[in-house]
Parts: sequence; C-alpha cells; structure tokens
Amino acid sequence: MIKPHQHKDCVDSALLHAQQICTQKNLKLTPIRTKVLELIWQSHKPTKAYDLLAQLSNHNHLEKPPTVYRALEFLLKHRFIHRIESCNAYIGCEYSDEHHDSQFFICNQCEQVKEVRASKLNQILLETSNKEGFTPNMTHVEIHGTCAQCAKKP
Ligand SMILES: [Zn+2]
Ligand SMILES: [Zn+2]
Ligand SMILES: [Zn+2]
Repeated sequence: MIKPHQHKDCVDSALLHAQQICTQKNLKLTPIRTKVLELIWQSHKPTKAYDLLAQLSNHNHLEKPPTVYRALEFLLKHRFIHRIESCNAYIGCEYSDEHHDSQFFICNQCEQVKEVRASKLNQILLETSNKEGFTPNMTHVEIHGTCAQCAKKP
C-alpha cells in the first residue's frame, strides 16, 4: 500500500542507493542514467519510454532515443528499475540493495505500483518449476486490482 508520504524522500533515497551500489560494484552512474532514474522515480506510477523521451527532449538538449534505451537497459540489468510488462512501462525498484524476485501490485484506478515480496509464493513457484523440470531465471508477477487508498474512496 502506498500511503500519503513525502515522495521527495523516495526519490532521494533511490538516487542515493543507486550511487552507493554503483560505487560498490564499480559501475558508472552517468548523468543520463541518473536523469532517467530520476524521471522514472517521479512517481509510483510506471513511466513509458515514450514519456521519458518526451521529457528529456524538454531539457537543454535533445537526447537521442538509443542513448535513453541504453540507459534503461543499464538500469534494468542492475535492477534499479523494473519493467512492468502489462503496462509496457518502467518503475523504480524499492529493493535495489538486496534484490529478490518480486511481485507487483498494480492499481487499476490510480495506476500506482507497489513492489512486494511474497517469499512463500516464490517458494511455491520454485517447487512447481522443479516438478516440471523447468529452470526459471526470472520470476515476475504482476497483480492488477485496487489499492487500499482507492478502495477507501467513495
Ligand atoms: Zn514515494
Ligand atoms: Zn525491485
Ligand atoms: Zn489506487
């Protein structure tokens, strides 16, 4: 559930985390990667690549799409962001320091996404995969519905 909160804190801590992890892992958080991450963290709603491009073009210079897509690839690879397949858009990762497989609760009304970890669910999926002789390399579950805030609205 996304409670009313100071969203600036989310953005600040996400950017700080990303910087720390990049320093630890010797990765380069270039200005464009930082900018893309910051734009994705503007809210808890998924951001489409198209909107990122439009917003980046509003700044002093026009970013070329391949540059932006490469930044997205980098951020995805290192799990600073996730791609929400059912929305064809990106969301900032809330657990980038210690990442496990996550589930995403997507509110159909306010469009906000909450990343959660149901470890039991992952265990069941792993057991089922074993039974099937299937080797999963990514477990990504998207659950659509109504968030607690929207459920309260008359
Ligand atoms: Zn927030
Ligand atoms: Zn995550
Ligand atoms: Zn909602």
